[in-house]
Amino acid sequence: MYGKFQKYLQDELKAIEEAGLYKHERNICSAQGAEITLEDGSKALNFCANNYLGLSNNPRLIAAAKKAMDERGYGMSSVRFICGAQDLHRQLEKAIANYFHTDDTILYAACFDANGGVFEPLLTAEDAIISDALNHASIIDGVRLCKAVRYRYANADMADLERCLQEAQAQRFRIIVTDGVFSMDGNVAPMDRICELAEKYDALVMVDESHSAGVVGPTGRGVAEQFGLYGRIDIHTGTLGKSFGGAVGGFTTGRQEIIDMLRQRSRPYLFSNSLPPMICGAGIELFKMLEESDELHAKQQENVKYFREKMLAAGFDCKPTQSAILAVMLYDAPLSQKFAARIAQEGIFVTGFYYPVVPKGQARIRVQISAAHEKEHLDKAIAAFIKVGKELGVLK
Ligand SMILES: *Cc1c(COP(=O)(O)O)cnc(C)c1O
Repeated sequence: MYGKFQKYLQDELKAIEEAGLYKHERNICSAQGAEITLEDGSKALNFCANNYLGLSNNPRLIAAAKKAMDERGYGMSSVRFICGAQDLHRQLEKAIANYFHTDDTILYAACFDANGGVFEPLLTAEDAIISDALNHASIIDGVRLCKAVRYRYANADMADLERCLQEAQAQRFRIIVTDGVFSMDGNVAPMDRICELAEKYDALVMVDESHSAGVVGPTGRGVAEQFGLYGRIDIHTGTLGKSFGGAVGGFTTGRQEIIDMLRQRSRPYLFSNSLPPMICGAGIELFKMLEESDELHAKQQENVKYFREKMLAAGFDCKPTQSAILAVMLYDAPLSQKFAARIAQEGIFVTGFYYPVVPKGQARIRVQISAAHEKEHLDKAIAAFIKVGKELGVLK
């Protein structure tokens, strides 16, 4: 049987390659950070990681992970409802709830699982999910697993959201779901308006804080802090794989009964292994660090501001941003690919995005700015952007 199937896969893979869509991976031979080392020993500056607070290689987190491993072992070898959880799991759940000012938290192996397991246990065919068109793939998949009626509104378009809410009035319960920060433009969801509409049309509110946590808000505590919405957002999901250390793990945090119900019925929680002790130990330490000081968040924000201002001054067309994501617009798809490849030769790693990841004619370079970046890193990247920009005719 495999022969025919193999031929089919080979043809599909070739078609992906020929369309220029094949995803090639780099091999990094150092820790994640502002500066990374590649297989051939060459070094590069990394501007395409979600390492927003620069914690991927933080000594305090590494020490906490080691300590947890020494004291609580390597793995859990079970799911929680069968074997139980360690004290560390509950401590981390409490720390996350404390950070977001919510009632309680439930941990998952990843935010992909948190989003995959949040809708189906809570909503039925009688209900409605109203989702932003640019929401993350894991939200889209989670919605697919649920029988609720689906509505989709144009990205951050409040008139369109209102239309969906009006159409969904026949359903029993409604939930509006949005990313906190959209990863292509770096724009923040208009949560204040979303919450107002939710109250007007009697809907619950859920936000995925994966790109907003640690970044958005006066001290980085996400969209509720940014817009003064404590107590008005019912569900937050998030990842431990971006600002919060960058290892792995996800969570849903929010109202008590919602979290209680997820513990009873959420399939990725019930039927997938618990997080290892080292992740919990490091996570507890992480939230202690964020409690103690706002320094990393402040540096991250300062870096974005500096980078964006210098890029604008150089003549680049950058989207406005309230996050760690900066979209440098090139509009032309082949140019965005060429630009990313050329600037990589200069030792600067950024990502070129073009259709279908972004709308046609909206090709861009995405730059992700971290607290790990020092001024010299930023200046080096800006100089490379200018050099390549002139070379490829983006700058005069
Ligand atoms: C990265 C991301 C996820 C996935 O997080 P993992 O923990 O890596 O599974 C989910 N939602 C959004 C919005 C993300 O940006």
